[in-house]
Amino acid sequence: MSLLITGGTGYIGSHTVVELQALANEQDIVIVDDLSNSSTKVLDRIEKITAKTVTFIKADICDYEAMNEVFSLHSIDAVIHFAGHKAVGESSEKPLSYYYNNVSGTVILLKVMAAHNVKKLVFSSSATVYGDNTSPLNETMPTSATNPYGQTKLMIEHILFDLAKSDSDWSIACLRYFNPIGAHESGFIGENPNGIPNNLLPYVAQVAVGRLAQLQVFGDDYDTVDGTGVRDYIHVVDLAQGHVKALQNLDKISGCKAINLGTGNGTSVLEIVNTFKEISGQNIPYKIVPRRAGDLATVYADANLAHELLDWQATRDLHAMISDTWRWQSENPQGF
Ligand code: NAD
Ligand code: UDP
Repeated sequence: MSLLITGGTGYIGSHTVVELQALANEQDIVIVDDLSNSSTKVLDRIEKITAKTVTFIKADICDYEAMNEVFSLHSIDAVIHFAGHKAVGESSEKPLSYYYNNVSGTVILLKVMAAHNVKKLVFSSSATVYGDNTSPLNETMPTSATNPYGQTKLMIEHILFDLAKSDSDWSIACLRYFNPIGAHESGFIGENPNGIPNNLLPYVAQVAVGRLAQLQVFGDDYDTVDGTGVRDYIHVVDLAQGHVKALQNLDKISGCKAINLGTGNGTSVLEIVNTFKEISGQNIPYKIVPRRAGDLATVYADANLAHELLDWQATRDLHAMISDTWRWQSENPQGF
C-alpha cells in the first residue's frame, strides 16, 4: 500500500515525508507535485536525511488523466493533500488562478480518489478560516474569510464536509494550521519562498543572512504585549508529526473533522525579532510601518482537540523554531 502526498516537495510536505519515512511500519510514499513552488532538489535532501527513496511524479492535481494514472499505477491507501497556491496578496490579484488551482484541483483529486475507492484524506486547511474571531480559536467557532486564498480553504472545507455527509466511508481530517516556521534540524530542508517573502520568519531570516536590508514591522499600536502582532508559531516538524498522527487516527474520525494544529501560545513580532537576533548573533534592522491591511492583533489556537483526538501536541519551543530556521538559512543562504 502507498500513501499519496500532493505538494510533497513543498515546505510542509517535505517535512511530513521525512516524518512518515521515520515510522517503523512506513508505507511507500508517492509524491505528486507540479513544481510550481518547489524543486526536485528537495528529493535528494529528503533522501539524505532518511536514507530512503520516494517515488516522485511531476503532475498537476488539476489534470484528471494524470491523477487517474497515478492511482492506477500505485495502490494508494490514503492521501495527504498539501498542493495549492498559498500567497494571500497574490490571491487577490489572481483570484481565478487560486480558485482553479486550489478548489478545482481538490475537486478533481477527490473525484479520482472516489473513482479508485480511496476515502482517507488529510487536508491542509488554515487558521485563516477563523476570520476575526477572538483567540483562543476553537473548532466550533463560525468560519469566514477575508481574501480569495482564505475563501479557497473555506470552500474546500465545505466541499469536504458535504462529501463526508454524502458517504460515510470517507474519513477526512481538515488540519487548520497556525503559523508554521522552522526547519528540519539537519539543516537540509526548510522554507524556500520564491521572490520577496510574504511571511515574517522567512523575511527575518533573509535580513539576518544579508539577502534583505531591513524588516518592516507592520504596526506597533495593537493591543498586545508590545503593540506588534501576536501569532501562534508552530515548528514545522511538530506540524509534520501532527499529520502523521492524523493519518494514524483517521479511523477514529467518522466523516470530516476540523482540527487545529497550533501551540496555544502567542508570540509578538518584536519577540521574534529579538529572539532571532540573540540566536543568530546577527543584527536585524527593522522599521515600524503602518499596519498591513487585513491583519488581526492576536491569533492563537485552542490546541485541545488535537490533543484529545490525535494524542498530539507541539513540543518544540520558540528557541528550537528559530535555531532551526537559522541553521537552514545560514547553511543555504540562497535556498535549495
Ligand atoms: P508550498 O508552496 O511550499 O507547498 C505547496 C506545494 O504544492 C508546492 O511544492 C507546489 O509546487 C505544489 N503545488 C501547487 N499547486 C499544485 C498543483 N496544481 N498540482 C501539483 N502540485 C501543486 O506551501 P506549504 O507552506 O508547504 O503549504 C502546504 C499547504 O499548507 C498549502 O495548501 C497551504 O495553503 C497550506 N497552509 C500553509 C501555511 C503556511 O504558512 N505555510 C499555513 C496554512 C496552510
Ligand atoms: N509581519 C511583519 N512584517 C513582515 C511580515 C509579517 O511585521 O514583513 C507581521 C504581520 O503583521 C503579523 C505577523 O508578522 O503580525 C505574522 O505575519 P505572517 O504574514 O507571517 O503570518 P499571518 O499574518 O498569516 O499570520
